[in-house]
Amino acid sequence: MRLEAMRIAGKLVRTDDVIEVTNPYDNSVVGTVPAARAEHVREAFQAAKAFKPRLTRHERQRILQRTAELLRDRQELFARLIVSETGLCWKDGLYEASRAYDVWSFAAQLTIKDDGEIYACDISSMGKPRKIFTTRLPLLGVISAITPFNHPLNMVSHKLAPAIATNNRVVLKPTELTPLTALALADVLYEAGLPPEMLSVVTGSPSTMGDAMITDPDADLITFTGSVRVGKHIANTAGYKRRILELGGNDPLIVMEDADLDKAAELAVTGATKNSGQRCTAVKRILVVDAVADEFSRLVTEKAKKLKSGDPMDPETDVGTVINERSAILFESRVKDAAAKGAAILHGPERRGALFAPTVVDHVPHDCELVLEETFGPVIPILRCPNDISEVILISNSTAYGLSSGVCTNRLDYIERFVAELEVGTVNVWEVPGYRIEMSPFGGIKDSGLGDKEGVVEAMKSFTNVRTWSLPWTA
Ligand code: NAD
Repeated sequence: MRLEAMRIAGKLVRTDDVIEVTNPYDNSVVGTVPAARAEHVREAFQAAKAFKPRLTRHERQRILQRTAELLRDRQELFARLIVSETGLCWKDGLYEASRAYDVWSFAAQLTIKDDGEIYACDISSMGKPRKIFTTRLPLLGVISAITPFNHPLNMVSHKLAPAIATNNRVVLKPTELTPLTALALADVLYEAGLPPEMLSVVTGSPSTMGDAMITDPDADLITFTGSVRVGKHIANTAGYKRRILELGGNDPLIVMEDADLDKAAELAVTGATKNSGQRCTAVKRILVVDAVADEFSRLVTEKAKKLKSGDPMDPETDVGTVINERSAILFESRVKDAAAKGAAILHGPERRGALFAPTVVDHVPHDCELVLEETFGPVIPILRCPNDISEVILISNSTAYGLSSGVCTNRLDYIERFVAELEVGTVNVWEVPGYRIEMSPFGGIKDSGLGDKEGVVEAMKSFTNVRTWSLPWTA
């Protein structure tokens, strides 16, 4: 694999300036990638726009399925790359690599389905003997895709697979922190038969080429996954372009008094620490009612203490590093700030460089930075709530974010209220907020997004224009 070059319409392009990609665990240099400038971005969009994809559904299905199979065959190779550039542990890297198979094979299965609709027109006194048909067409311009560091394979797959399934062209800018996995994926796609003009990958720092990705005249649609700060910058800068923004989260796991506390504690610890707590849908606030809080807190601490934090390549490790030392220092200081404001630290914090071990904090004040902001690491913060569902819902909704949620209760009256009243994109009963399948609609509201959904089915809709056409029809 030659990962030190960008892929512009399949051509390997290098620059004199490069960006080093480092392993957060030992600071070794994993690789270098070109530091693209605005002119490289322009070149990529021009090459894409000049090409008109004409792949049949069968051809797209073959490319997508072949990609899924190549990724499955090279799962360990991808896991190693993911672990090296993210510091995620081997278990998380392997899970990330294996999830990708689903994304690509679901897209393969969906691409052969024509979802056109038919409307008969003779259905009112003003009707006519006609029929209106719908068909979905690829965008006229190019898709600009910008992805974050925390799922270097899956966030990229969730943009590329639906784009290819709908015969679109894409210029992808993966994050400068973990770009190597995206470059390796592009090579798999070319090997699987994708016309190279349909995908370019440009690498570099957002300060030199970020705005070029947002404002390029040939970009019709920007699909972005990342922080609220950058998402709002894109919304303000993109002008008259479609945009899909999948932004940060501050997801609650809610534990009511009737819950099986052992099961709830398991979900809390897993949800807060998988992927080093770096999932947009990680459990960021555990809202537990006072009636059961003491016992729940004891169980959470017991389970968190069993997790092994350490060398990401060790197959026994449960929690690897966060993305860099700067982030780990920030999380540590937020935990200390919460403690200064009255929280009780029950386990941790332990930090070595970018390694930040799972940390349990109880009695967290509802207004401290640890839980007001998105703390993108393996902190397990317990917020105690009055024994009243209305209060719990109020506290849950008091954040600017609205991505997902998990709910631990068996009471149907509670479940009905949570589904109706939580201001989020997803309510998972007896699951972590992050539970989904790669095909189901996914996305948030409020600061977490503008309500557009990802997931292969929804993304295929977003990446197309609906054309209606009609015919005289008497039958
Ligand atoms: P980030 O916003 O810092 O970066 C995301 C991408 O935007 C990167 O490729 C980065 O280079 C690029 N970027 C930064 N500034 C830019 C600019 N001015 N113009 C154009 N591009 C620019 O996010 P991150 O730290 O990589 O990722 C973590 C964030 O992503 C968290 O907030 C997390 O919740 C969120 N996230 C959301 C979802 C979701 O589906 N809602 C999924 C995963 C991650």
